[in-house]
Amino acid sequence: MQRKVTLQQNVMAADERHAQNIRKRLAEAGVLMVNLIGSPGAGKTTLLEATFRKTPLRMAVIEGDVATSRDAQRIAAAGVPVVQINTQGGCHLEAHLVERALEALPPLAELDLLIVENVGNLVCPAEFDLGEDFKVAVSSVPEGSDKPLKYPLLFTEAKAVILTKIDLAPYIAFDKALFFDDVKKLNPEGVLLEVDSIHGDGIESWCGLLQEWVCAKDVSK
Ligand code: MG
Ligand code: ZN
Repeated sequence: MQRKVTLQQNVMAADERHAQNIRKRLAEAGVLMVNLIGSPGAGKTTLLEATFRKTPLRMAVIEGDVATSRDAQRIAAAGVPVVQINTQGGCHLEAHLVERALEALPPLAELDLLIVENVGNLVCPAEFDLGEDFKVAVSSVPEGSDKPLKYPLLFTEAKAVILTKIDLAPYIAFDKALFFDDVKKLNPEGVLLEVDSIHGDGIESWCGLLQEWVCAKDVSK
């Protein structure tokens, strides 16, 4: 048991060096990196598709999935540079995988924003530093209003929490006040957003937030 703990600590320390390398490269290029985390089916890829339709920011995407390139195909169809990472069973992305994926994207100097869509999972993706500026939590109405307190690390760490599929709220017993009150308890500084990616509601506010973060990171933009 003791050996297992030690090994995990060593692996995480090694990965932290990869995260620091990524953070340094992004800082030099003035590129903002967002680590998008939510359950399978929360609407992460659909949110990205809606984002591309609204923002003038120069974006690239790294897709993390256990298997398939389906999400990368959707992103590529929108004309956005994308790399798919398949974790072959792994339930989260790690920085060494992201560092390798960077090599297959356009030069960082040509980008404003890099979004990493993590493997769908509310648990361990929140524990791993990928070198991002911010983690953003994506949670959808059909998942239920109890998720923030049940998965507190993600909702505590997130710079912003995006509630998706708000158009479904009339059909589902979703307590929006409870959801946002619980997020505020965990994370008083977190930005709270509601979106309907299909019809576009709330997407302008999300794109405005991304623009603000990009400008704050690189004042020349
Ligand atoms: Mg997806
Ligand atoms: Zn995991």
